[in-house]
Formats: sequence, C-alpha cells, structure tokens
Amino acid sequence: MTNLRIPGPTPCPEEVLKEMSRQMINHRGPEFAELLNDVTGKLKQLFQTKNDVFLLTGSGTGGLEAAVVNVLSPGDRVLAVSIGVFGDRFAAIARQFGADVVPLNYEWGKAADPEEIRKALGKDHNIKAVLVTHNETSTGVTNDLAEISTVVKEAGRLLVVDAISSLGSIEMPVDEWRCDVTVTGSQKGWMIPPGLTMVAVSQQAWEANAEARMPRFYWDFAKARSYLEKGQTPWTPAVSIVFAFRVALDRMLEEGLTGIIARHARIARKVRDGVKALGLPLFAEESHASDTVTSIAAPEGLDVKKLLKILREEHQTVLGGGQQHLMGKIFRIGHLGWVTEEDINMVFQSLMIALPQAGYEVA
Ligand SMILES: *Cc1c(COP(=O)(O)O)cnc(C)c1O
Repeated sequence: MTNLRIPGPTPCPEEVLKEMSRQMINHRGPEFAELLNDVTGKLKQLFQTKNDVFLLTGSGTGGLEAAVVNVLSPGDRVLAVSIGVFGDRFAAIARQFGADVVPLNYEWGKAADPEEIRKALGKDHNIKAVLVTHNETSTGVTNDLAEISTVVKEAGRLLVVDAISSLGSIEMPVDEWRCDVTVTGSQKGWMIPPGLTMVAVSQQAWEANAEARMPRFYWDFAKARSYLEKGQTPWTPAVSIVFAFRVALDRMLEEGLTGIIARHARIARKVRDGVKALGLPLFAEESHASDTVTSIAAPEGLDVKKLLKILREEHQTVLGGGQQHLMGKIFRIGHLGWVTEEDINMVFQSLMIALPQAGYEVA
C-alpha cells in the first residue's frame, strides 16, 4: 500500500472507503435527513461550537469563497493576514469579489505577529474583517489563533478563519476563540476523500450576512440554513462522502478530541525529531511548527524533485514538494488524519535510503 504523506488528500480507513460503495439514496428523503442531522451534530462537537455548521459540496477553496461572499460587500475593507500560499489565496478571493484588501504579509516560514494585527486594526477603523489562516499548509506553520482572536475581537471586527488543515486535528475551539466564519475541508484531517467543505457561522457573522452584498448563488449560507431545517442541502450533496463522513466521525469521537490532538502532537514531534536526527533543517520557525504538516528545508546538494521521485517509485512513499517559490527548496511530510507512528517510521526508513541517492549524505 502507498504511504501517502501529503497534507491532503490523506488516506482513508478501509471502513470509510467501504461506506462509499453504498447505493444512492434520495437526498430529499428521510434517510438523508437523518444522516445529515447526525453528521452535523457530530461535527459541532468536534468544532466545539454551538453555532451553525454547514456541509457544502466543494473543495476547501469553495468554503473560503463562501466565507468571503457571505459576510462582505464590495468595497468593504479587510485585513488579509498571509504567511504563505493559502493566506495569499484567501486575500485573492476577497480582492476578486471587490473587497478593499489590506495585506499583512509575513516571510514564508514565519507566523503572524498578533501585535502587528492589533496595530493595523487600531490604525484603521474601517477594517471590517480579518482573514487569517490558522495552519498554513504550504509552509508548515500554525498561527497563534487564540492571540489573534483576542486582538481581533477586542477591536470588534469579524474573524474569518481558514482552518482547513487544522480543524479536527489540532486544538481549534471555534466558540472559545470566537471565530465568526470557520472553514475546513474533508480531505485534510477528517479521514474522508475530497468533496466537502464544512463551515461554522457565528451570530456576528449572521448579522454581517444580513447586510453582505457580494454576489453569491451556490455558496449562500442563508439558503444552507433554511434547507438544513428540513434536513437537506440546497443543492445535491456529495452523498457518498456524507456516508463516509458518518463512519469517520464515529471513529473520531471514539478516539475523542483530546486523544486526536495528543496523537497529532506526538506524531509531529516524532517527525521533527526524526528530521533533526537526519541533520536536516526544519523550514518553519520551531515555536510555531505545525502539528499537521512538517516542512523541511533542502540543504545544499539535495535534489528535491529526485528525492520525491525515488520515494514514490521505489518506496511507495508520497511526500509533498514546495509550492510556488518554495518549489525545489523544501519538501513536506503530511501527518494529519489517519496517521500512526508506524507510518512515520516507514517514511524515515525510506528517507534514510533515498536521501543519499538524491544528493544528501546522512551523517
Ligand atoms: C488544502 C488547503 C486549502 C485548499 O483546499 P482545496 O480543498 O484544495 O480547495 C486552503 N487552505 C489550506 C490551509 C489548505 O490546507
């Protein structure tokens, strides 16, 4: 079996895959209503929220677009905090729909500084919302969302969070951290295939929604809410993924959120220790290293493309490369969702063999 260790799509347990082969049902019938209500209730537990949670059919980026268009109007000023590829994407979506985007960019590999966000909000009272990535998958950095939330909410602004590669894997209490719109994606920590994006919507976000004038049709939270009251989604959902989701959520609740978070922390530490033992430099600043994805800086002489090819072809091990200007400069190990210590041991066994072949002598 392939050892798929990219930060999404992540491997799915056998029982999840089996569930996807079930016959179709009427998505406007009682059986689906029961399923949707069950899944939504279980998701709320893992989101740690009492607010509305919606299952939307689409990838994570669709969820980010939904977040933007449901709380903003063209011309609204937003602070877009970016520490990598996905932060930039969030800003680009807002810009595309006519928001007046004030970028706050950080060097890739570093986390955002909550004090600078405080200053930016203090200086400009017209900033209505802050867009922020909780866990930047492209660099392997987790932002200090609790602190960021404190400064954003003290300033009374909307907090719109890309939690696509963090929710369900690492600490992310949606209500405690007063997130107004929170977005995640099925293929990251949730042990199910791509196809769903899940969003939580706070009371303050609903108030913003009532005024928000950005164009939207497919991604309309108000429609999602009114259909959910009937146990439905506005449009035909990815039924098979919802089947799979119930099984995956049962598994997650059985392990418990505390157990899930502890496992991710333990495995991430093991990955970072293993990387250091190979003499390789971690790319992300270690104080903010992600517990779902680890980025490794390629030292002089290491051909990343060749390394990934050898791992893939000779070891059935698939790791992630760098994105955009980090291509060839870093590689990434995904360790979220269905991941065990043994999976990581196998990655390192393969790396020990493949690294010298790709130009890096392990000390
Ligand atoms: C994966 C990811 C996305 C994009 O999700 P898609 O499902 O590929 O659209 C956005 N943000 C973060 C942090 C991600 O990890």
